Amino acid sequence: AIPLVVAINTSMAARNGMLIRDRIAMEQARDLDTIVFDKTGTLTKGEHGVVDVETTDAINEDEALALAAAVEGDSEHMIAQAVRKEADEKGVTAPNATNFEAIKGRGVRATVEEETVHVGGPNLLEYLDNDVPSSLQAFADEAGANAQTVVYLVRDGQAVAAFAMADVIREESYRVVEALHNLGIEVAMLTGDSADVAHAVAEDLGIDTVFAEVLPEDKDKKVTELQDQGKLVGMVGDGVNDAPALTRADIGIAIGSGTDVAVQSADIILVQNNPMDVVRLVKLSRASYKRMR
Ligand code: ADP
Ligand code: MG
Repeated sequence: AIPLVVAINTSMAARNGMLIRDRIAMEQARDLDTIVFDKTGTLTKGEHGVVDVETTDAINEDEALALAAAVEGDSEHMIAQAVRKEADEKGVTAPNATNFEAIKGRGVRATVEEETVHVGGPNLLEYLDNDVPSSLQAFADEAGANAQTVVYLVRDGQAVAAFAMADVIREESYRVVEALHNLGIEVAMLTGDSADVAHAVAEDLGIDTVFAEVLPEDKDKKVTELQDQGKLVGMVGDGVNDAPALTRADIGIAIGSGTDVAVQSADIILVQNNPMDVVRLVKLSRASYKRMR
């Protein structure tokens, strides 16, 4: 039989928009030392917009946007959506593309007019062993300092354009970090995005620890690093990329709008897509399980 207090607790959780898939996780939540948040779509809205474009002499802005939209044609990533939306709004038509391929945590590639074209972040250029022209580098540095994510368009082995995208920090995220600190819990951030962007967001939010430029297959290792320091670790995320880290964490927390994979990897699901529910979860756990002892 389910102990009464646990039963009450679970229904209380449900009323607060928390689905508990693992009751032990709910009990453990009172002892969390560190909570790791995915950045994009969890601490930020994940609604990127293209705010600036820079090109080399090899291409003009409209051509660059059209080509990038073509290569991003098959991707669900928020960056891809932003590029396609910008192309739409500018009224440029993407050429046909084939052979779509995702390069996990780095970008995408496709064939356009018999050429291989890539779109991706700084680590895509590393992967392609490709240098950034100085004009694009200067553009990227400035964008990074403004917490904007930069992706490059690479045609014929050359980076020919760069796009700066702005995401928006969720209003609730500020209160979440402050409230967790008040509960004595450390806050960390885990992202595949560049160190520039990650540190700008972390500093703004007052986050203690930053793991940036982490490839999807390495995200769970960062959780292990914290656990190796003796910490009980919670992980909050929404994406397919977050699933291994959600599984690895002592308490995996999927946030509402998350993908199915994230939801299936989590112990607790926050249905309302409000990061403030992480704080409510810890408080509820502390209040409920105190009574049992
Ligand atoms: P996050 O932790 O922000 O969810 P991802 O692992 O999804 O990160 O992506 C990490 C980085 O890989 C992005 O910041 C971007 O530079 C690059 N990237 C991933 N997917 C795409 C895409 N479809 N188009 C362009 N760049 C991409
Ligand atoms: Mg995410």
